[in-house]
Amino acid sequence: MKLINTTNYTTKELRDFVRFAKPSGVKNVDIAVRNTPNSYAWGRSYGNYVAVFVQKNPRYFPWYAEVHPRQKKKGYLGWKLLLTREEAMIGILAHELRHEWQRNHKGHRTFGCRKKGTSERDADAYAIKMIRKWRKSQTQPLINISSLFF
Ligand SMILES: [Zn+2]
Repeated sequence: MKLINTTNYTTKELRDFVRFAKPSGVKNVDIAVRNTPNSYAWGRSYGNYVAVFVQKNPRYFPWYAEVHPRQKKKGYLGWKLLLTREEAMIGILAHELRHEWQRNHKGHRTFGCRKKGTSERDADAYAIKMIRKWRKSQTQPLINISSLFF
């Protein structure tokens, strides 16, 4: 697995994102991650190669990622609210790497997504799961307020 990184994340940070977002059993995929100047985030899976583009400017976030009716027809679920640039990174990586997974796991997808070819619905369902898992992992433990007063 080759990783091409032209973002301002370190390669170590990117490897951690990939490790987090990757469905198990996906191997031999090269991944290129780049900044994008004028959109939020997007990606593409080509079969053994995934390209991911994420907005560099943190002021673009939170991002309300609405689904266009045309995309809904194609099966996209949409992700609603993405709080940070890192959540967008995890979401796009998870979605595109799930397409790589789909190519080798026909018939094992989320219920209702068992047509041949790749499925946007299944890829989005997986991405949403991983974004939630990421968000949970980033939550700081709450301070016990009473300990500040007594
Ligand atoms: Zn897709």
